Amino acid sequence: MQLNYDFDRKDSVFLVPLGGLGEIGMNMMVLGHRGKAILIDCGVMFPDPTTLGIDLIVPDIQFLNDSKLQIEAIVLTHGHEDHIGAVSFLIEDLKFPPIYGTPFTLALTEDRLREQGRLNRTKLHSVLPGSEFKVGTYFKIKSIQVTHSIVDSMGLIIETPVGTIVHSGDFKIDSDPLDGKRIDEKSLIEAGKNNPLLLLSDSTNVERAGWSKSEHSVGQGIEELFRKIRTGKIIVAVFASNIHRIQQIIDSAKRVGRKVAFVGRSIHGNVEIAQRLQYLKCDPAQIVAASEVAGQGDGKIVIIATGTQAEPRSALYRMSLNDHPEIRIHPGDTVIFSSRFIPGNERNISHLINNLYRRGADVLDGETANVHASGHAHQEEQKQLIDWVKPKFFLPVHGEYRMLVKHAKLAKQCFPKLQVLISENGDVMELSQRAFQKVGKAHAGKIFLDEGATDLHEELLKDRRQMAHSGLVVVSLVVEKDEGRILEGPDFDIRGVNDEVDLDSLRSELLGRFKELSREARGDDIEVEEEFRRVTRRFFRRANGVKPVVIPLIYEV
Ligand SMILES: [Zn+2]
Ligand SMILES: [Zn+2]
Repeated sequence: MQLNYDFDRKDSVFLVPLGGLGEIGMNMMVLGHRGKAILIDCGVMFPDPTTLGIDLIVPDIQFLNDSKLQIEAIVLTHGHEDHIGAVSFLIEDLKFPPIYGTPFTLALTEDRLREQGRLNRTKLHSVLPGSEFKVGTYFKIKSIQVTHSIVDSMGLIIETPVGTIVHSGDFKIDSDPLDGKRIDEKSLIEAGKNNPLLLLSDSTNVERAGWSKSEHSVGQGIEELFRKIRTGKIIVAVFASNIHRIQQIIDSAKRVGRKVAFVGRSIHGNVEIAQRLQYLKCDPAQIVAASEVAGQGDGKIVIIATGTQAEPRSALYRMSLNDHPEIRIHPGDTVIFSSRFIPGNERNISHLINNLYRRGADVLDGETANVHASGHAHQEEQKQLIDWVKPKFFLPVHGEYRMLVKHAKLAKQCFPKLQVLISENGDVMELSQRAFQKVGKAHAGKIFLDEGATDLHEELLKDRRQMAHSGLVVVSLVVEKDEGRILEGPDFDIRGVNDEVDLDSLRSELLGRFKELSREARGDDIEVEEEFRRVTRRFFRRANGVKPVVIPLIYEV
């Protein structure tokens, strides 16, 4: 479907996901009317083993420029990286629209903007759950308190020129959240009474039956475990932003007479913000610095650390290699993963766990002990939300493609009259009183960033993967410019390829090919390079079955 859509239409609004639909991560939804639009979330995705050397992936926003849409605001539902992580990278290209979010979300976003030197030019509007605010020219939003694995998460009830849209944000229905702030059921039911048009809902846990565990029950699980472990250090790995989990670990530690040390840069950052906003409370006398850990008695310390996904620079990873400047793991210590293993990271995590065992530690995780609860709704909660909101149309969001399909099926099974659409990144959807449909395909893609935050294209990653997979061969040659004679070479520089091959025969094959080339072709660098690349790759393929990346270097003198 070619994109030939009039974004100026009066009788409908349009939605275009630029990330998050068909994948977990990089959430970004464009919602617009008459040439103006807002963005809901602006997140990153983390690299996997196929994106070698890449640190971050952000949505490609080319479509916004191509369609000349004016982005009037960014609304952030909560502070997880897959919702806020791309703001500091994209805000300039987006021409610095104002940002709306809850205090914790904005505090995290502010830190990143400051790091990137873009804070001065950004307007941040703090909104509290339950408040109503106008966003851009055409939209009015009521922020809805939801429960999730980070404090200050919100869903959205959006009044648009054609009707109401409800966006769940990332949510679960925790009937017993630590701060007592339950999901705003009342507002959602109220919205449901006014014939809302569309519900967008979190699909992450559609493969899990029943209800998710409450955060409180995890606290009990952690405390029971702490009571059983009488000796050694306890190291708990958590997501740095999971403030309620951190609070429960601190409280449990206090009750069993252990002090707490925070280890890892992002933990310190998140804890500092949470304390400032009074989302986290702890007795300063209970906290010790990482440098004081070694001086604490046996069985007297809990370390709260980053590194649940075996990130190479994280505190836990460095401890596992005995490479942390302050913390040593000793036999008898216990490491608890109070987290989920994100698919794609299992290999690295298992490597990390093996190294923790090498240090003599015992390792427990959320699968084997009651030390983790998901922040995302299970099936019964997903159904409950639809039942509250009673929308006319339904769009599953925040999920890999199969999750979107399963969420659509689940919704349809329980609410047969519901009209369901399954969409992926780039689909242009039109919503009116009468219909909700796909009307075209916009460009959507990924921008790969390395540590220097330079854009890397898919093509370049393909080269990296090929070099990693099959190695690299540089073929160099010195050619006399006028006569087209070879003065030196070809010589080979071989990396990551078995070089016990008959290089003399490759050399004579290349020389033979060179001589066969016409006088004209010999003077044409590109033609010679192409020929050398082809012959060399074919040679290695015959010799040892690999097709390395070949770089011909022709020097003319
Ligand atoms: Zn989230
Ligand atoms: Zn998310």
